[in-house]
Amino acid sequence: MTKFEYAPAPESRAIVDIKPSYGLFIDGDFVDGHGKSFKTISPSTEEVLAEIAEADDADVDLAVKAARRAYTRVWSKMSGAERGKYLFRIARIIQERAREFAVLESIDNGKPIKETRDVDVPIVAAHFFYYAGWADKLSYAGYGPDPQPLGVAGQVIPWNFPLLMLAWKIAPALACGNTVVLKPAETTPLTALLFAEVCQQADLPPGVVNIVTGAGETGRAIVSHPGVDKVAFTGSTDVGRAIAKAVAGSNKRVTLELGGKAANIVFDDAPVDQAVEGIVNGIFFNQGHVCCAGSRLLVQESVAEEVLAKLKRRMKTLRVGDPLDKNTDVGAINSAEQLAKIRELSEIGEAEGAERWSPKCDLPQNGFWFPPTIFTGVSQAHRIAREEIFGPVLSVLTFRTPKEAVEKANNTPFGLSAGIWTDKGSRILWMASQLRAGVVWSNTFNKFDPASPFGGYKESGYGREGGRHGLEAYLR
Ligand code: NAD
Repeated sequence: MTKFEYAPAPESRAIVDIKPSYGLFIDGDFVDGHGKSFKTISPSTEEVLAEIAEADDADVDLAVKAARRAYTRVWSKMSGAERGKYLFRIARIIQERAREFAVLESIDNGKPIKETRDVDVPIVAAHFFYYAGWADKLSYAGYGPDPQPLGVAGQVIPWNFPLLMLAWKIAPALACGNTVVLKPAETTPLTALLFAEVCQQADLPPGVVNIVTGAGETGRAIVSHPGVDKVAFTGSTDVGRAIAKAVAGSNKRVTLELGGKAANIVFDDAPVDQAVEGIVNGIFFNQGHVCCAGSRLLVQESVAEEVLAKLKRRMKTLRVGDPLDKNTDVGAINSAEQLAKIRELSEIGEAEGAERWSPKCDLPQNGFWFPPTIFTGVSQAHRIAREEIFGPVLSVLTFRTPKEAVEKANNTPFGLSAGIWTDKGSRILWMASQLRAGVVWSNTFNKFDPASPFGGYKESGYGREGGRHGLEAYLR
């Protein structure tokens, strides 16, 4: 297969206006924080993009109080139809400003523009449209005739899908009549701050949405604030555990969306070319920074050689580089810390005896990069088969029978997602009933729809986001 050489096709940065510094968005206005500040950089160039306020306990307190006032005086009193109007307005503004959001997200996160433009931002808008539609129909959602909001939601999100995770958190919370204090991840605050501008543009009543930036300490302050009624967290299993401990014994409701180590299972009757596309999408989409990434390929022994040959051929065509180039398939790793973690686990994979392979690729000089990588000869005991690498690294294992595939797939502390590739409908249904995973895709992977619930079992967390099920987390 030839890798066609294309001329560079960079998307223009001119559409975004990155300010030199940003304050916190509290009670409808941008305000200076009391704390220190930190820098957000572009992971593809290491260029400093902006100085960001780090919210301390006093700032978080102001944000929670603003959210409480807005909840009591305005938002919980408003009819669902009125709340829906605001959400529809936000959804439309996001669509209008889609290119701006896509470019900004690519710059701050490092993910390719074709993903932010065609996946992240459209799903964000769809999520707001979807929950806008629920706002006046909550009595028909199956949670009783008159379900009530919880109050103030404290929401903490990760850096892999910054705007999308914000949408998953804010849209259902607001639709149900709650107000929010949200903290984006410290390496990707810019699209959340642009979203704050959208709230102003939509005339959202002050205090309904508050965005406070900062790192773990700011997150801890939100989660442990006594004025917060509900905690919604997406991030690592370790931090999820700490949060569960911190809120234990309080009246706070909690949902946790944590890590994963999904099995992508390819049977000998699978359409191989499609399966290869699904494997590539499963692990190299978003540089593998995906909680539900298909990071363990389980391939039936009789077709393993063919699948691997085709997979390697396909991997040689992946373009790694400038996130703003429209031809880029794999962008930059989000941070130096994450790159170090991916490198470390990959070295452990080699040391434990697995065989490492990457296509030849010229990586840029500056920034954080890791080539698409596969490990073969992986056993279930290997750390690369057990731990979440959260990068473009695939561990390949084989199986002989469907029963063995199920056993291997379920042999993980996580349970977020899985993929099945086979021609047989009956096998898809049987496998899906056996797999301990919140989402099971068949003959596809990484498909998201706002109407479909998403969430995990075991160490992947609890609660569901998306769909009618996603309302439950925000209703009494
Ligand atoms: P992380 O847990 O380090 O950080 C997530 C967020 O929590 C960040 O905003 C961080 O500042 C904050 N935080 C850190 N310590 C905290 C504390 N003690 N109290 C409160 N907040 C704290 O995770 P990450 O590295 O940013 O994200 C990657 C992880 O997220 C992966 O494990 C991935 O699987 C998971 N993830 C899960 C889903 C899902 O829906 N299940 C989606 C995306 C990412």
